[in-house]
Amino acid sequence: MGVNTGKFIWHDGQHIKWEDANIHIMSHVIHYGSSVFEGIRTYDTNQGPAVFRLRDHIQRLYESAKIYRMDVSWTVDEIVEACVETVRKNNLGACYIRPVVFRGYGSFGVNPFNNPLETYIAVWEWGAYLGADALESGVDVCFSSWNRFAPNTLPAMAKCSANYMNSQLIKMEAIKNGYSEGIALDTNGYVSEGSGENIFVIKNGVVMTPPLTASILPGITRNTVISILTDLGYEVKEMQLPREMLYIADEVFFSGTAAEVTPIRSIDKINIGNGKRGEITARVQAEYFNIFNGKRKVPEGWLTPIK
Ligand code: PMP
Repeated sequence: MGVNTGKFIWHDGQHIKWEDANIHIMSHVIHYGSSVFEGIRTYDTNQGPAVFRLRDHIQRLYESAKIYRMDVSWTVDEIVEACVETVRKNNLGACYIRPVVFRGYGSFGVNPFNNPLETYIAVWEWGAYLGADALESGVDVCFSSWNRFAPNTLPAMAKCSANYMNSQLIKMEAIKNGYSEGIALDTNGYVSEGSGENIFVIKNGVVMTPPLTASILPGITRNTVISILTDLGYEVKEMQLPREMLYIADEVFFSGTAAEVTPIRSIDKINIGNGKRGEITARVQAEYFNIFNGKRKVPEGWLTPIK
């Protein structure tokens, strides 16, 4: 495996060995995509390892579950605690946390109600998602020929594994064409998001980002970035964006737990601004990482200590 895996995985109240965390091939999730999940980062902070916005992520996990009529047998507090315990048990500092709730083994066919829910939490070490150089130099991306799903097909506000078939189409096409990521439009033709990132656009000092109605996942990093920009004195406009607005923008960047704040230096081989990380992007990035070195004060509950 190309990643440094944890040794133990939490499964419904118990820690089991990484290699024992297996499911039956006839589990509902394998056939029908019936899982909701989260992606969370633990950072090495000046106060020791701490999970970033853990409760907000678990809250979103429960909202995803609610949309899909999944009654998780654990409380938000229990899953929050289980995430912390799992990082501790694996003796990890900076790492990625992946809680997942899915419909397991029980009956066959689309109706999910007779399949028991299972909850797992895995952790592993993960570096910069779009490459080590990406944070500084930016990435070259394309618009995808695939749209995000229409709002009355799959609910974009739920972080459901089935949504990621769409993300995979976007990602594979981008990679095959030599780009590191793709940006999808929504079914109305407006900018939506990357395969696993939200997007911010800056022109003449005005910051814009697609609204929730553009089939985006309500990113927690998106929310963090909006609060940073607001503190820096920028108004962030959540508005429908035509594709060409990105080509002529001064700066464009991705936000996401995995991608953090990643500058986009070109789209469809058109340089964005001067083709380098923009000034406002650099400030947002610096402020984002200041959260973890203690230079930036954050609201109560945004950093959950591991120790
Ligand atoms: N959009 C999609 C499709 C994603 O998968 C992610 C990553 N979870 C994001 C946006 C960014 O969300 P967050 O900032 O909460 O990680």
